[in-house]
Formats: sequence, C-alpha cells, structure tokens
Amino acid sequence: MNDFDEPFDNEVDSYYQKVKADVESSGYHLNPDIEFTLELLKSILINKKRYGYGACPCRLASGEMDEDMDLICPCDYRDPDLVDYGACYCALYISGEILSGEKKLQSIPERRPSPEEREKIKETSNNIPTELSKPVWRCKVCGYLCARDKPPEICPICKVSSERFERFM
Ligand code: SF4
Repeated sequence: MNDFDEPFDNEVDSYYQKVKADVESSGYHLNPDIEFTLELLKSILINKKRYGYGACPCRLASGEMDEDMDLICPCDYRDPDLVDYGACYCALYISGEILSGEKKLQSIPERRPSPEEREKIKETSNNIPTELSKPVWRCKVCGYLCARDKPPEICPICKVSSERFERFM
C-alpha cells in the first residue's frame, strides 16, 4: 500500500490470483470483466487498510469489525445470492450459469437484515442448547458444518477465517 491507502498494482494482482484460486476450488467464478473485478478487489484492499478488514465494496461499513463481520468479503450473503440470482450483490462472484451466458445478470436486492434483525439472530445463535459430545460449528459463508471443540482456523471449503463460524448445535 502507498500513503494514500491505494494498493499497488502488484498487490491487487496477487490478491486477484489468490481469490480466483479459492473461488474456483469452491465451484464459483470471478466476474470475467477483468477491469470491473480488479476495481472491486482494489476497493476491498482499501477497506482492509482503512478498517482492518475487507468490508464489502458495495455497502457502507460501520468501521466496527464485530458489526460488519457478515460483510467481510466473501460476505454471509454471497452463497444465497449466487443460488437465487447467479451473482453476489456486487457481482464480483458469479455462477457457472452466468459465466456461460445461460442466465443473465440482474440487479440483486439487499438481503442483509436490518441492525435490529441481526441482533436478534445473534442472540438466538448464542442460546442454542446442546447435548452433543462436541459443539457443531457452521461456516456462515458457505454452510460447511463440523463437530469439534473450536471452529477450524480456515474454512476448508470457502477459505474464510474462524471468526466467520457460528455455533450451530
Ligand atoms: S461476496 Fe460480493 S457482495 Fe459479498 S462482500 Fe464480496 S463483493 Fe460484496
């Protein structure tokens, strides 16, 4: 990064390579409009520098990581939007159907719940009773489940970090 929070071209390029490898291993694709994609990735890197986390480039971040955990790219809403619309809210990630032209990109409604709804969801997930020998953790991005004492450091499917897991059972 330089003094103006702008990432250097080589930082954007290496981020692009990493994100592309991660996303293709999970069966999705980056938007093939390379200029558009690089601009979005650059904005995520700027957010990383500004807030300390890579908030979604198409939404207003609060600047509080706890508040915005669901908006760290890839956000919690990526996979349901890919299923319903074939693209995430920013159209950074797209499905095979969109890539092949079988389905057309359309505008995607915001699926993020209101702050009040998010608070209720958090309370519900903190109060799950369990009689299992191990807690079950769910990746909030891709839905991967695992039963172990703690969530994995990195999700083996979508590669997000342990903070993106919630106690499921
Ligand atoms: S997955 Fe798409 S919508 Fe979600 S944070 Fe990343 S760029 Fe934004």
